[in-house]
Order: sequence, then structure tokens, then C-alpha cells
Amino acid sequence: MATDIRAATNQPPLLTGHHVVAGDAALTAAVLRHGSPAVLDSLDELGRLAGTEEARDHGMAANRFPPEHVPYDRWGNRVDEVRFHPSWHWLMEHAVGFGLQAAPWVSTEPHAHVRRAAGFLAWSQVEPGHACPISMTYAAIPALRADAALAATWTPALAATSYDPGTRPLADKRGALAGMGMTEKQGGSDVRTNVTTATPTGDDGLYALRGHKWFTSAPQNDVFLVLAQAPGGLTCFVVPRSLPDGTRNVYDIARLKDKLGNRSNASSELEFDGTVAHRLGDEGRGVRTIIEMVAATRLDTMLGSAALMRRSVAEATWHAAHRTAFGRLLVDQPVMTNVLADLAIESEAATMLGLRLAAAVDRIDDPHEAALRRIALPLSKFWVCKRTPAHVAEALECLGGNGYAEESGMPLLFRESPLNSIWEGSGNVNALDVLRALTREPEVLDAWITEVGAARGADPRLDRALDGVLALLGDPGSLELSARRLAGTMAACLQGSLLVRFAPAEVADAYCATRFDTSFHGTFGTLPATLGVATMRTIVDRATPHAG
Ligand SMILES: Cc1cc2nc3c(=O)[nH]c(=O)nc-3n(C[C@H](O)[C@H](O)[C@H](O)COP(=O)(O)OP(=O)(O)OC[C@H]3O[C@@H](n4cnc5c(N)ncnc54)[C@H](O)[C@@H]3O)c2cc1C
Repeated sequence: MATDIRAATNQPPLLTGHHVVAGDAALTAAVLRHGSPAVLDSLDELGRLAGTEEARDHGMAANRFPPEHVPYDRWGNRVDEVRFHPSWHWLMEHAVGFGLQAAPWVSTEPHAHVRRAAGFLAWSQVEPGHACPISMTYAAIPALRADAALAATWTPALAATSYDPGTRPLADKRGALAGMGMTEKQGGSDVRTNVTTATPTGDDGLYALRGHKWFTSAPQNDVFLVLAQAPGGLTCFVVPRSLPDGTRNVYDIARLKDKLGNRSNASSELEFDGTVAHRLGDEGRGVRTIIEMVAATRLDTMLGSAALMRRSVAEATWHAAHRTAFGRLLVDQPVMTNVLADLAIESEAATMLGLRLAAAVDRIDDPHEAALRRIALPLSKFWVCKRTPAHVAEALECLGGNGYAEESGMPLLFRESPLNSIWEGSGNVNALDVLRALTREPEVLDAWITEVGAARGADPRLDRALDGVLALLGDPGSLELSARRLAGTMAACLQGSLLVRFAPAEVADAYCATRFDTSFHGTFGTLPATLGVATMRTIVDRATPHAG
């Protein structure tokens, strides 16, 4: 019989029909530990929808048809609108509807931030670009609280679960979204060099901005926290996109960035000239004020990277469970089992750390939690976001050539993967922030020791790593040169401590064996053979999604 040359055999089915929350053992365990069964139940609809083909298609389409800048209307009026594909609006509508924006800040539920973090981690696996305006809206609230009146004005709309796009005054909107403008042409890390000026108008708290921003994502949003130089120094401002009388604030989009990834999301260059701005916090205290927003977005960069890892592991384990080579399923080939197990423990460690830090937001008034959050956010952002590109690349390779093809969805994840390490403080800046916190706020080291020390004695490799950090800190002269090593090891210790206490023994053992006990092997898939293939296979099975 003639061979059917068009037959497609040995091609794994599309990964759909799985529950992105309940089907993720690590995420489920973390939600139950830091939240409750009710919190898990409340994520049921989100988790189901995230695993559908419909959601997958919208995620792809929002990137295939990126946003367009519309500077003028047909009559020549300056409008500076951004036009999006309907799939972008579908993604946003659900993200806002599920309360992943600012809703937890007005919730009376004791685990509101854990719920939101878990939902964010699951939903941004559908598509990472739209998570940016969602994150910024979440993060704006703690900074807005520097001014009770401005917080009262904006919080209800930012926390509303209605997605209501369009440039209209706040009074005409059922829901609003926020953004931030800090980075200018001459520098984003050192915002003290900002040249945008803010001149008091004579009205109480009102200023006129003149200058530019080199990066401002989601310029279509309703309100922005912007840094500018007031007479008293660098100051934070609240800049609405529309004014109460219905006119557009002077707020020109020079152009949208042509980016490596994150293509569904509009990132713009802005120009201000007489732009109406409300002072938020005191003049000269701009960094202090906006740092609250930066801290909250740092949590999301880590959760977003954990999401990229989890989606990558899901795709890789799914593929390997359905594709054969040399007469055996890929997942049963020992080298592949090792690779998948190694990717799975990295993903589980990132998920656990992200949810642990979200739980610290739920207990923000507890001094230990506040101190832990101060030190753990920069070091965790540094570590998790830095690990992500290598992780996603390795997962992509598990799909072979199929992983390099756009329709697999893996290139989208790979292009997104370096971004979280860049914005909200690049790698070095976060590593240096860890040193700053250690130097200026002694209680943060105690918080880290308490947290890691909760696992003292459970694993000698983790104990040695903790002692190694303390030894490194004992040599303050060389700390700046060692900043990355220090931040990475401190983050790995936090992950190790969580895994040793709460993860299955084989996951914790594999993590400690490779992140603390051996010399660096440079790639994933180098778990020691002494762990045994059966143990590795158990780890892989735990991470493999199951279609419903
Ligand atoms: C897609 C995208 C969207 C963005 N959206 C926004 C937005 O909405 N709002 C906004 O304000 N910004 C936004 N940014 C900007 C982003 O926050 C900045 O790019 C980032 O803070 C780094 O600033 P920079 O690009 O000026 O780099 P630089 O500050 O010039 O830094 C360059 C490099 O030098 C390193 N470095 C800096 N200082 C030190 C030091 N003391 N020691 C050692 N190394 C150092 C940094 O880690 C970095 O690797 C966005 C960026 C991207 C890519």
C-alpha cells in the first residue's frame, strides 16, 4: 500500500482542556498553604478558561496583530489613541473581571493578595503582554495612598472589575487602568537625572509638566504616576489622561516602541507640554513615593516570570508525554527525564517563592513580613527573572523544531522571557538594592535569616548555603563586586527553605542537590544520576498537565 505522504503522525495534541490552577500541583499547594480551599475554589473559572483553545487563540492573535498608534483623527485633530486587536480586549476584559488589577486592595478577604497572585500567575500564562497594564494598575494603589484625596478619587475605578477602555474623564468610566512614567532618554535606573520639569500653576497641588518619557507602557490607560523635577526636587505626580471637562490632557505619544517581544502591549515615548499633573507626596520625595508602586510591580515581574516557566514546563512535559523517538516516549528517555525534572523544580521553586511573597502583602502590618518583603522582593526579582530566559529556551528545545515554530507558542514565551529582568530595575540594580537594604535596614537580614532558618537542620546543603551567605556578608569590602552572587544565593536559600518544608521530598532533594551542593554545570538537565530516574520521573509526572 502506498504511503500517505500527507499523514501527520507522532505529533502531540494541542495542550488545551487542562485546568491551569487545579492542574498545577505546586500552585495548588501554595494557594492552600497561604490561602484556603475557598481561595482555590474562587479561581476555578479562571483556571478552566485559561486552559481553553479559545484563550490560547486570543493570546496568539493579540501578538500577531500588535497595537497601532493613531496620532490624528480623520479631521486632523490630535487624538493619540492606540488601536488594539479584539483579542487584546478579550484578554483585558477577563483579567480585570477576575480582579487581577487593583481589586485586592479594597477586599476584606484575608487572602486577597494570594488569590490575586495565583490568578495572575495562571492567567498571564495565556498571554504575558496584557499583564503589564494589569500589574501597573495593581501597583498604583500603595503609592496613591501617599495622598488620601487622590487615593479616594482613583481607587474605586482602579479596583472595579469592569473593563471600560476609551479616553474619557474618570466620572464617565466604570473602571480605570493605571501606568507609570519614570524612564527618560538619559536613563531609567538613575531617575534622579530626570529632566522633565513640573511648574506649580498656583492652584493647590496642581502643576504643569514639560518634558518627555522614553518608556511609558500602556499609554492608553487612564492615569499615570510620573516623576518630574519640581522646585523642591524630584517629585511624583498623578497625571490623568482626560481632564474633568472632557478634554484630553496634553499628552502626546511620539511613537510606539518596536520591541523584541511583549508585542501585544503598547509601550510608548511620550511628550508633555503644559500637561496637568497633581502632586503626589511632598516635593523632593518622588522616589520615596513611587517606590511603593515599584515594589508591587517587582512582585509581579517575579510572578510573571514564574508564569512563563510554568507554561514552558507544561508545554514541554506535555510534548514529551506524547512524542516518541527511537521507539520510546521522549519522557522515558533518561536524559530528557533529567531535563524535564530540572525544569520542573525550577518552576516549582519560582511559584512557591512568588506566592510566599504575595502572602507577605496580605500581612503587610506584620513587621517580619514587611522586612521580609523589603529584602526578598529585589533578590527574588533578580534571581527568578534572570533564570527565566535559560529556562524557557531549554523548554522550547524539548519540543525540538516544533518549539522554534511560531504556532507552538514557544517563541512568544521566549521573546518575552528577558523582559521582566529589565523593567522595574534591571538585574544589577536589584542586586545593588539588596545591598542597600542590608546596609540601611538591619531588620531585613534578621527577617531573611528567620525565614530561611525555619528549615535549619532539615538539609545540610541548605544549611551550608545559609552559612555561606553569612560569611559573604562578613566581608563588606567586596560586597558590591559580589552583589549578584549574594542576591542569587539568598534567593535560592529562600526557595530551598520553602521546598524543604513544603514540597515533596524528591523535589526538595533535587533542588538542594543542584542549587547548593555541586559546581555549576551551565545548563538544565544536570541533576545528579544518584537521584535515580524513577525519582526524576515522579517529579516530571507532578509537573505534567492533564487534559480534562
Ligand atoms: C518593554 C519595556 C517597557 C517599559 N515600560 C516602562 C514604563 O511603563 N515606565 C517606565 O518608567 N519605564 C519603562 N520601561 C523602562 C525600564 O524600566 C528601563 O529600561 C529600566 O529601568 C532600565 O533603564 P535604562 O533602559 O535607562 O537602562 P540604564 O539605566 O542605562 O541601565 C543600563 C544597564 O546598566 C545597569 N546599571 C545601571 N546602574 C548600574 C550600577 N550602579 N551598577 C551596575 N550596573 C548598573 C543596568 O542594570 C542595565 O543593565 C520599559 C522598558 C521596556 C523594555
